[in-house]
Amino acid sequence: MSAASELTDGYVLCQDCGHVEPYTADRHQCRESCSKCGGDFCGCNACSELARLALQFQEPSDDQDVSQ
Ligand SMILES: [Zn+2]
Ligand SMILES: [Zn+2]
Repeated sequence: MSAASELTDGYVLCQDCGHVEPYTADRHQCRESCSKCGGDFCGCNACSELARLALQFQEPSDDQDVSQ
């Protein structure tokens, strides 16, 4: 609901290879390059959200409904 920009626990997404790293100001401002390909990260809302989704698909979640 709130439109406040709280990106402190967001992510940055490499624009070249799609590598995801936790958000830091250095990465967001392109002072730190991708460890995989040397490309630039983007930490805007859209990329942070994409990165979050990518991580969710990568990591098998512990919260999946496997009860029964
Ligand atoms: Zn990269
Ligand atoms: Zn972006």
